[in-house]
Amino acid sequence: MNKYYDVIIVGAGVIGCSIAYQLTKRKKKVLVLDKGKIGGKASSAAAGMLGVHTEFDGDEDLLKAATKSRDMFPALLQELNEISGMDVEFIQNGMLKLAFTESDQRALRMLSAVSKDAEWIPEEEVSRLEPRLSIRNMGALYAGKDGNVSARKLTLSLSSSAVRLGAEIKEFSPVLGFLQDRGKCHGVRTQHETYHSSEVIVAGGAWSRAILSTAGVDISGYPVKGECFSVMLESPPIKRTIFTEGCYLVPKQGNHLLVGATEHPYTFDESVTLGGISRLMNKAIELLPDLAYGHWEKAWAGVRPKTERTHPLIGRVPGWEGLSVASGHYRNGILLSPLTGILMADLMDGNEITSLFRLGGKNERMFEK
Ligand SMILES: Cc1cc2nc3c(=O)[nH]c(=O)nc-3n(C[C@H](O)[C@H](O)[C@H](O)COP(=O)(O)OP(=O)(O)OC[C@H]3O[C@@H](n4cnc5c(N)ncnc54)[C@H](O)[C@@H]3O)c2cc1C
Repeated sequence: MNKYYDVIIVGAGVIGCSIAYQLTKRKKKVLVLDKGKIGGKASSAAAGMLGVHTEFDGDEDLLKAATKSRDMFPALLQELNEISGMDVEFIQNGMLKLAFTESDQRALRMLSAVSKDAEWIPEEEVSRLEPRLSIRNMGALYAGKDGNVSARKLTLSLSSSAVRLGAEIKEFSPVLGFLQDRGKCHGVRTQHETYHSSEVIVAGGAWSRAILSTAGVDISGYPVKGECFSVMLESPPIKRTIFTEGCYLVPKQGNHLLVGATEHPYTFDESVTLGGISRLMNKAIELLPDLAYGHWEKAWAGVRPKTERTHPLIGRVPGWEGLSVASGHYRNGILLSPLTGILMADLMDGNEITSLFRLGGKNERMFEK
C-alpha cells in the first residue's frame, strides 16, 4: 500500500520526536517509524541532565548551542504540557562540576570565563552549598541555571504532542531501506510496507550509521554504552547535581537520586553489569556517604550515539536530495533536543542550517561548523 507524507522520520527517540513535534506545529504531514517502542532506547536511559557545562569545555559554539537549547525548555515544556497534559518533572536545581586537580581548576575557570551563566566558586562555598558532600575538592564551576527532566517523559510528551497535532507514529516498524531514484530519496520501506515522502530524516541514534549504510552512505560514529542506577532517600542529601569525571549524582523529583554513568565504547549490549554498577556505587558513596542509606530502586543501561568529534550530525546528506540526518548527540541528546527539532524543521522549510552543525562535503565524516 502506498502512503504519502511530507516528512518521514526514522527513529522515535527524543530527537525524532522533537523534530516530529516541530514539523507538525508547522502543519507538515509527518510519519515516524521506530523498530521498537517510542523512546525505548537511549532516550529512556538518559539521566535527563540539562547540563550545558558538562561536556562542551573549550568549544564556544557548542556551548552557545547548548545554552540556547537549555533555555528553550521552560517555554517548550509549558507548550507540551498544554497539548499533552504531561509533566516531565523539570527541576532547575543547578549543577556543581567539581575540580580535583590544578588542571581541572584551570579548565573550569576558563569555562567560567566563556560561559554567560556559570561561575567559579572556591571549596568553602561548595561546602556551604552542599554540606553533605564528603570529598575534598579544589572548588567547582557552579551553573545555577542547569537542571534536569525525566528523559523518558520528555520523549513521550514530545511524541504525544506531535500525534495530537497530526503526526503518525508506528512502533515495531523497522526501516529496512530507502526508496531512491537517481540520487533522490523519496521514502522508505519496512518489511510489509512502502511509505512515500518528499523528505526522509534519519534520527536512529546509535543505529543511524547502519540505517544510512543501506543507502550507501557512511557516517562515522559508534555506540557508547552507559549504565546508571537510582535510589530513594528519606530526604534529599543534596539539592544540586554533582558532576565529576566518571560519576554524577542527579537529584530527581520525589527524593529519588540517580547515579550515572559508565562508558563502554563500541558495544550495542544493553545489559547491566555488576562491575559497572559497583564501580559507580563506590564512587558515589565516596562523594556522598549518605547514599549508603539509600533504598535501592533499579539499574539500567542504554547506548549513546557518538561521532568521532563529539559533535552531533545535523543536516542534509551530501550528494542526496531528500535525505537528512539528525544523530550523534552522544551524552547530550536530551539537552540538545529542543534546538535540534527547530533546526531540522527550519531545514525542511528550505532554510539551510548555517549555524553550528551543517554536514559538508560528499559523504563527509563530520559536520562542519
Ligand atoms: C546512561 C545514559 C545517560 C545519559 N544522560 C544524559 C543526560 O543526562 N543528558 C542528556 O542530554 N543526554 C544524556 N544521554 C544521551 C541521550 O540519551 C542521547 O543523546 C539521546 O537519547 C539520543 O536520542 P536519539 O533519539 O538520537 O536516540 P535513541 O533514543 O537511541 O533513539 C533512536 C531510535 O531509533 C530507533 N531505530 C533504530 N534503528 C531503526 C530502524 N532501522 N528503523 C526504525 N527505527 C530504528 C530505535 O529503536 C530508537 O528508538 C544519556 C545517555 C545514556 C545512555
